[in-house]
Amino acid sequence: MGGTVEARQLAERLCADPRLHIISSLAGRTNQPASLPGEVRVGGFGGIEGLVGFLRERKIALLVDATHPFATQISENAFEAAMNAEVDRITLLRPPWRQNENCRWKEFENLEAVIGALPRGASAFLALGSQYVSAFSRCGGIEFIIRMADEPVKPPFASCTVVTGLPSNEIEKEQALLAEHGITHLVCRNSGGNTGFAKVEAACNLGIKVLMISRPTYSVREPLVETVESVVRFIGDAFPRRQPMDLP
Ligand code: NAP
Repeated sequence: MGGTVEARQLAERLCADPRLHIISSLAGRTNQPASLPGEVRVGGFGGIEGLVGFLRERKIALLVDATHPFATQISENAFEAAMNAEVDRITLLRPPWRQNENCRWKEFENLEAVIGALPRGASAFLALGSQYVSAFSRCGGIEFIIRMADEPVKPPFASCTVVTGLPSNEIEKEQALLAEHGITHLVCRNSGGNTGFAKVEAACNLGIKVLMISRPTYSVREPLVETVESVVRFIGDAFPRRQPMDLP
């Protein structure tokens, strides 16, 4: 279950092993997802029951939930479905970002709390999933610049500017973008991982206030690991080694 950099890296690692058949599952949210090795399926399963059916039909031996830390519904579904279908499951969840002496922010429990904290007159850069941005439409007196992966059919709300593209890993590029738009506040989620932290560092370098939404508080289920390498090790430990000829 993918949609993350880590899920792609894992697919690349595991597809190199001829004894394994790897299926990556994407929700289909982005128009041009990065190419993946192995089998790829796209679109929802139709809830827990649909996923149970898929796991049984495809005789899945292990479900790796490598979805985004804020994709809570699919993780709950993956947990329930794997249990119902009696399929082994492991969660790959990258650790959240931590503050350091150069990079500080204020954490908020949810979107509502962030919206309440934005002052009138701010120029806010929203680096959030597209499903989260419409809630900001009711904020008066604030200029919003919204970064979206794909050009939207229409802007999320009238009084905003959309910047299309993915976040850069280069702090200088993120700094240039924030400066170009005269940003005073950066709103983002504590997604963790290497991709995405450059914007936070860029904002801190420029003295821009960072409003960070904390990780959701849903219960993350064990077994849980933080790195691609750990999943590879888990597979090596959990499944007896088979010869290529054993495979279908
Ligand atoms: P979500 O709210 O947890 O899930 C909503 C529904 O989307 C699920 O019930 C499921 O539909 C379908 N779905 C989600 N992930 C899927 C997957 N990997 N394969 C097949 N169906 C999936 O999910 P979300 O937050 O919209 O995220 C969707 C996908 O984008 C995830 O794969 C996630 O890893 C990736 N992503 C999300 C974010 C984010 O900010 N949330 C950021 C980067 C990447 P059914 O119930 O019909 O099965």
